[in-house]
Amino acid sequence: MLPLSIEEIRRDYPILSRTFYGKPLVYFDNTATSQTPRQVVEAVERMYFRHKANVHRGVFSISQEATGLMEAAREDVRRYINARSTAEVIFTRGTTEAINLVAASYGGEFLGDGDRIILTVMEHHANIVPWQLLQRRKDIHIDVVPMLPDGSLDMEAYRRLFTDRTRMVAFCHVSNVLGTVNPVREMVEVAHSHGVPVLVDGAQAAPHMAIDVQALDVDFYAFSSHKMYGPAGVGVLYGRESLLEKMPPYQGGGEMIANVSFEKTTFAPPPLKFEAGTPDFVDIAAFAEALKYIGRLGVENIAAHEHALLEWTTAEMMKIPGMRIFGMAPGKCAVISFLMGNAHHYDTGMLLDKLGIAVRTGHHCAEPLMHSLGIEGTVRASFAVYNTLSECETFISALHRIRPMLD
Ligand code: PLP
Repeated sequence: MLPLSIEEIRRDYPILSRTFYGKPLVYFDNTATSQTPRQVVEAVERMYFRHKANVHRGVFSISQEATGLMEAAREDVRRYINARSTAEVIFTRGTTEAINLVAASYGGEFLGDGDRIILTVMEHHANIVPWQLLQRRKDIHIDVVPMLPDGSLDMEAYRRLFTDRTRMVAFCHVSNVLGTVNPVREMVEVAHSHGVPVLVDGAQAAPHMAIDVQALDVDFYAFSSHKMYGPAGVGVLYGRESLLEKMPPYQGGGEMIANVSFEKTTFAPPPLKFEAGTPDFVDIAAFAEALKYIGRLGVENIAAHEHALLEWTTAEMMKIPGMRIFGMAPGKCAVISFLMGNAHHYDTGMLLDKLGIAVRTGHHCAEPLMHSLGIEGTVRASFAVYNTLSECETFISALHRIRPMLD
């Protein structure tokens, strides 16, 4: 049970009281980005009004305050994901940058011509394209894990993909289209039994479930603040310290060095080795407030609330003739991708918008998944802690209302 009523929770999100076309906003695009509560916005304001000075540099008090707040945020992230040390917590611009960092740095150093990487068919482009960029530098082959009809991964096929040239496995914890929660621990065990490290794209998991990188035994784990009620422009790469130590820097510049001369530069230890230039310390400090916010509500309570909305809405949607829902794996997250009859996803999304309902339409940055489903795109509704059953009812009656217009 959430410790506050939904009405109390919603009061912290002024955006939710906006109206569109005379209808109250129903915000169902939480998978793309969640809204940000007052507490987090106030933390941004505090940083600008009280603590703004460059971090890790000044001897003066405000600079030390700013550095202290940024490093406290690193400790909050460490605790949220149960990393062994703050050296394992690298701040990035988001999940995308985190994955690019691993592909460029780890991939650039430790993968060679003829090596193979395993990805899955349900990856976001953020976990495909960085590996393809690596393919421009090295002759690397990408093997793809297929899925079963319910949207879960074909684990037998996964096991069979390993060869003695497999050097990296990278997959999403939760699919942003299907909501499938992949069996991370089991997949890591298989990969590690072949001596292969694992990167998990946790962009869609970190907002909805407790993450314990030690229990999962992952080598890299990436996620984004803006999907976790936090500010945009901040993300995290968790990396196992023994690997981070061996990896070369991703970018060069200030903050990431030990000593610089024109003859030779030495680098700071992780995490600073991977944080060249002035970091987004304002939003990093505010991200810590978002983690506190999630902690106060309880991530399990948030998930249970979203799950109740998911179950009710899915059951109601299935009563609508011609409804197709993509992704029905047991224990899925609160994401519903669907198509109604032969209607184009874009038309459905436009009509829902006219009724005040914000849903995502398109390929959701997962074109290979769309190809494997034989479709161009879907409509996607996804829930967060501030969504209500009454909004789901509005959504269902809107679907009934627009259905005849789409025939
Ligand atoms: N991975 C998944 C599964 C996602 O859903 C997203 C964003 O939707 C990303 C990666 C990219 O996240 P960001 O744009 O915050 O870097």
